[in-house]
Amino acid sequence: MIDLSNITHTARRQHQCAGCGLTVHAGERYVRAQVPGGGRAAKRAFHGKCYTAMAENINKENAHERNI
Ligand SMILES: [Zn+2]
Repeated sequence: MIDLSNITHTARRQHQCAGCGLTVHAGERYVRAQVPGGGRAAKRAFHGKCYTAMAENINKENAHERNI
């Protein structure tokens, strides 16, 4: 299980989720972190469940072979 407690924030303004592309509304809890496996340093906004899904998919891929 992925611990999101250190990277979860309350949105002060709208963000676009980098996972599903939908809006994170002001006042909602969201995750601010680097894209899992994306290799980009910039942090992006995610819904908690979108970040978890992406991170878990990356973990599964890494368990096998990395396709690049
Ligand atoms: Zn999302």
